[in-house]
Amino acid sequence: MAASSQAVDQGARARLGIVGMTCANCSARVERALARLPGVITATVNLATEQATVTFDPTQLGVDDLRKAVEAAGYQAYPLADGAPEASDAEKAAREQEIRRQQRAFGLAALFSAPLLLGMILHMAGVGGGLSQLLNNGWVQFLLATPVQFGAGWQFYKDAYVNLRGRNANMSVLVALGTSAAYGYSLAALLWPELGIPGYYFETSAVLITLVLLGKLLEARAKGQTSEAIRKLMGLQPRTARVIRDGETLELPIDQVQVGDRVVVRPGERVPVDGRVVEGHSSVDESMLTGESLPVDKGPGDEVVGGTINKQGSFTFEATRVGAGTTLAQIIRIVEEAQASKAPIQRLADRVSQVFVPAVVGLSLLAFAGWYLTTGDLTASILAMTAVLVISCPCALGLATPTAIMVGTGLGAEHGILFKGGEHLEAAHRLDAIVLDKTGTITTGEPHLTQVVPLPGWTEEELLRVVASAERRSEHPLASAILAGAEARQLPLAEPEAFEALPGRGVRARVEGRQVLVGTQRLMAEAGIATAALHQAQEALEAAGQTAMLVAVDGQAAGLVAVADQVKPGAAQAIGALRAMGLEIWMLTGDNVRTARSIAAQVGIEPDHVLAEVLPDQKASQVQALKARGLRVAMVGDGINDAPALAAADVGIAVGTGTDVALETADITLMSGDLMGIAAAIRLSRQTMRKIRQNLFWALIYNSLGIPLAALGFLSPILAGAAMAFSSVSVVTNSVLLKRFDPRAAA
Ligand code: ADP
Ligand code: MG
Repeated sequence: MAASSQAVDQGARARLGIVGMTCANCSARVERALARLPGVITATVNLATEQATVTFDPTQLGVDDLRKAVEAAGYQAYPLADGAPEASDAEKAAREQEIRRQQRAFGLAALFSAPLLLGMILHMAGVGGGLSQLLNNGWVQFLLATPVQFGAGWQFYKDAYVNLRGRNANMSVLVALGTSAAYGYSLAALLWPELGIPGYYFETSAVLITLVLLGKLLEARAKGQTSEAIRKLMGLQPRTARVIRDGETLELPIDQVQVGDRVVVRPGERVPVDGRVVEGHSSVDESMLTGESLPVDKGPGDEVVGGTINKQGSFTFEATRVGAGTTLAQIIRIVEEAQASKAPIQRLADRVSQVFVPAVVGLSLLAFAGWYLTTGDLTASILAMTAVLVISCPCALGLATPTAIMVGTGLGAEHGILFKGGEHLEAAHRLDAIVLDKTGTITTGEPHLTQVVPLPGWTEEELLRVVASAERRSEHPLASAILAGAEARQLPLAEPEAFEALPGRGVRARVEGRQVLVGTQRLMAEAGIATAALHQAQEALEAAGQTAMLVAVDGQAAGLVAVADQVKPGAAQAIGALRAMGLEIWMLTGDNVRTARSIAAQVGIEPDHVLAEVLPDQKASQVQALKARGLRVAMVGDGINDAPALAAADVGIAVGTGTDVALETADITLMSGDLMGIAAAIRLSRQTMRKIRQNLFWALIYNSLGIPLAALGFLSPILAGAAMAFSSVSVVTNSVLLKRFDPRAAA
């Protein structure tokens, strides 16, 4: 007992690809079928990615049992390796098999339906003669229609049965009911001529099945295209790496590369895993991950990312992240999860399709009864009922949202825009305001020392030496700038004692026995230090957009040090683009008002939209305050010290860092630091939502116009079938067309 419960705790995990799910009901059913198995701990099934993730007790059952359970529920399943490229191969194979199956079914149906259709045309055209007579003979029609009904069309019966047993009704139920009605009616006319039923409608059921199969075939093909982005990303992963071990260069399979390995990259090759360059210089094309087209120069100390392409030079790097830990693997995981997630708008579609089928069956019976009672014409009644059954199929409705979300998130990834989930892709389209963090978002975040202003009694060098010594333990970018400045002047630094970082204010430390305080005006005021002697210099620097940090030693003002951070090239243009899209722009910073306003002026943000001197822990409440005004707010930051503000916003956007932290906290991650990515993300979101609305329109328009027409007898079942097939195909095609959209091009 103890042994088995331990095994349950450990639980094996398996992923299965599922083929053949057509609607939200299907995924729910597969989920139930898996969860019901003894030994299965959790099972989740995703319709859009067509995957199941199962944790189970390996002592009680194996992956093969899972596969069998899925097949018993009426679908095909194949095991997937975790995140490996083989997963896409298996998926591709299964998809191709599904396409071939649909091709065979459609081919068979078309072959037998063609003569039936020809017979109908000849009959309607009033052409007599042997061929027309032969094709309009009831027994000949019966022989042609039967293989279509029960051969090619068998999948509808099977699927309908499985669905009904699972207390669901889906499109197969409608197709099976509708075609059986037409077929059964014709068969009755043939077998019992004494009933006096006029005419046969074998061609109706056969052509209908052929059309629905054509729709399914086109849909299977188009669906393959929606998941292309993941395959492209997986294709970026090289399968081998050239690793130096014991002085020898070995070509190893990628999964044998370990952290700390030295890896050699030659010109034109892909970087196999993430790492830091130790030797050599080159430029690397990172566009496949960041969307930024210019190659990036790399030398010793620079980070390289797996999947990017080395241009001319050769270099050696030390692997820092391998396997599932690489940036590329994380991107793939995020895109997969996003594609699998549901956008809130989909819940509406799900709810509609749940009530649709039962309602339609009811409606078709009403149509039948109405016709029969008013006209007494059995043929017309059955045809009206069949047409209603067929035109009402909600299958396009089930495809409208997930296919667009899949293409949208995939397209984003190709442009270096990672959406964490469908809900964020949806949320980004209705934003009203964008709040930008100053440091590292609007500016490069790499400040450099510009000025040292000593008060009497201090030299520039001595002041800088003391300040830099105090800043030695700080991880703030301002500290790095000060340290770099001190290093450039080759000042001998001292070891600080009792170092204390004061977030949003500065630092406090003891240097060579003296109490040193470096930071904001507020910090000095709180410590009761008079800084009037520095005000003039401070104001001038701040008005020029620099950050002046005041220095006090042993309770006396000693001077100030100033650093400047460059505004990112293109920041003004990107902010202009956002404004042109109708968005309100705000700047949020812990820096002082004057510096902040000066930077804001450089990029075109109004002074009254600058929120300055905000302490780190208040950034989130500033975002909340904007939200309280009824604005839908996106917060853009680097994701490292902005996490609470990113979380407080309606949409949190991290720029320029593919680091774990950013990927964890942000709803949208922009792989490149280029602020144009914000506009691109919003454009992509708007375009995807437009597609979804169009799709919902196309999915419902056929149904809503078709149902009354069909009920009133103006729509033949064949036309209804064609309209329905067309509706699914147009929805999926419309989603696939989203791939042509260029989110970086202004509308
Ligand atoms: P931002 O919002 O621009 O990222 P912070 O909230 O981190 O800024 O810091 C706000 C202000 O606090 C800085 O402009 C600076 O004046 C002061 N400060 C923060 N850290 C330090 C430090 N290590 N040394 C000196 N001053 C600092
Ligand atoms: Mg910051």
